[in-house]
Formats: sequence, structure tokens, C-alpha cells
Amino acid sequence: MFRNKKTLNADGTEYELFCNIGKPEDAVKAVECDGEGVGLFRTEFLFMDRNSLPNENEQFEAYKKAVMVLKGKPLIIRTLDIGGDKEIPYLGLEKEENPFMGYRAIRYCLGNKDLFKTQIRAILRASVYGDIRIMFPLVTCVEEVRHGKTLVEECKAELKAQGKGFNNDIKIGIMTETAASAAIADLLAKECDFFSIGTNDLTGYTMSCDRGNSKVSYLYSHFQPAVLRMIEKIIKSASENGITVGMCGEAAADPMLVPLLISFGLTEFSVSPVSVLKVRKEIAKWTKRDADALRDYVMTLHTQSEIVEYIKSKL
Ligand code: PEP
Ligand code: MG
Repeated sequence: MFRNKKTLNADGTEYELFCNIGKPEDAVKAVECDGEGVGLFRTEFLFMDRNSLPNENEQFEAYKKAVMVLKGKPLIIRTLDIGGDKEIPYLGLEKEENPFMGYRAIRYCLGNKDLFKTQIRAILRASVYGDIRIMFPLVTCVEEVRHGKTLVEECKAELKAQGKGFNNDIKIGIMTETAASAAIADLLAKECDFFSIGTNDLTGYTMSCDRGNSKVSYLYSHFQPAVLRMIEKIIKSASENGITVGMCGEAAADPMLVPLLISFGLTEFSVSPVSVLKVRKEIAKWTKRDADALRDYVMTLHTQSEIVEYIKSKL
């Protein structure tokens, strides 16, 4: 019933419903499952299960393969999000006391310019073949976005000098998945073309809790009032600055969160391919008015359990 349909809420407002993928081959699955594009291509998998870095051409081929499958649909490529729980042995990353707070993701890439620029050049070259967008992970401050964008400009100049093609207007966005990025979402929104909310990390960083630790995992919930406020602030800042805002963390596929996201003003959902039709169906259930009524009450509640109980009673 929801296959080959647009993603519409009960008022007819349209949403983008994308997929999360980890390998170029998964783009096929995204299309088969009726995804309208790819909202998160986790590129670290190209760097894992091997003994040396993939070179520019190998990466170019992988990104080109994915975007060709999508036939004009968007492909948001997240630059290398290494460190934390994602290790690449041959990079010889130093052991850190606090890897989740450490030298990882955009921090590592900005400090390893050659590795980062190789990836950006590959993405730019592939951008000739479709609607590719670049996304930086784990951003915490404006300087990181500006620095990343400067390196993109350097790569464009290098490719131009080599006579290689690229989309000069490629969109550049960030994952908002740290407490800092939520706090300064209004400032970050002026620096980029889109946000994608990474609730997997945002929940952990906001609640200062490691979901892998069973003693504190009870705190790990996107229905904690602190997390909902972060999400609301990010979406509001994006809307006020006229940029698009998606969600690519697991929470985007939670039927209980969908009405809140509609009310906050999310414009794009990115979920695993198998969840596409389920999420389309959930979005179709809600008018903006009903979603707003639910949101208005939920945001007055003080605890996660009250919020969960209340939403359950309304589904
Ligand atoms: C997230 O943090 O929500 C996210 C999508 O990124 P990852 O799960 O790859 O850290
Ligand atoms: Mg993340």
C-alpha cells in the first residue's frame, strides 16, 4: 500500500525518506526497498577489513557505483568517522583514556589532511554522476566546519588544475550528534547547507552515558527530556535559517518519535532500507495539528517514563 508512493503526512505535506547504507552495494537495497535516496553513507566500511588506506581511485569508484545506482536520487556521503568504537588497525591510532571524547571523526580528518583530502577529491569526482552531498561527522564548533570547507575548496582547485570534473555547487552539511552542536545549532546553521541529526551519538553525549554499559544504559533514551530538547533546538535552528534537516540515527524509525519530529519540523528521515515502508506508513498517520497537540503536552512532561507512557496512550 505504501510502495512507490510519496512520503506524505495526513495533511499531504511531503517528506524525504532516505536510507542509511554502509557499502556501495547497499544502494541497490535502498532502491529496492523504495528509499528516495541515501541520507547516510557510512564510509568507514571502505577503510575497514583491509591492510592499507583505499586510494583516491578506489574510493571514487565506490562512490560512483553508489550514486549511479541511485539514478539522480541524493547520496549523502559522510566523511570518515573513525575512532570511538570504530577502529582501523593499520592507522595505528594511539590508545586513548577516553576514545569517545578523543581524536576521532572530523577531528582526526582535519589533523590528517592527506587522508581527508584524498577522500574529498574522490567524492568530488564522483559528484559528476549524480546528486552527491558531503557530510562531516561529530562537529562541535564552527571552526571545524570552516576548516573542512576550506579543504573542500583546496580539493576543487586541485581537480580543476588537473582538468577533472566535479559539481562546483556540491552541498556540504554536518551531523548534529554532539551536545555542543545542538547548543550552537543556530551558529552552525549559518555555515552549512543541511543538518542530519545523529541520535545514536547525540543521546549518549547529551546523557553522558555509554549505552554499552548496562549499569547506565537506562539513561540512554531519545525520550529523555534533555534529548528531546536538543532535537527540537537543532530542527528549529535549521528551519529558522532555511536549511534542510534530517535525522539518520536509529530514532528516526521509532513510530513513537515520528509525531514529535513532524511537529518539530523535520524535513527528512533516513532509516535502514527495511524500515522505509514502515516509516512512510507512520508519517501518513499524522496531521500537523495532531502532532503539535502531542508535542505541546509531551514537552511539558518532566520524565522519560511519563513521556513514553503518554505517547503510547495516544498511538
Ligand atoms: C548517529 O550517531 O546517530 C549516527 C547515525 O552515526 P553512527 O551510528 O554511525 O555513529
Ligand atoms: Mg554518530
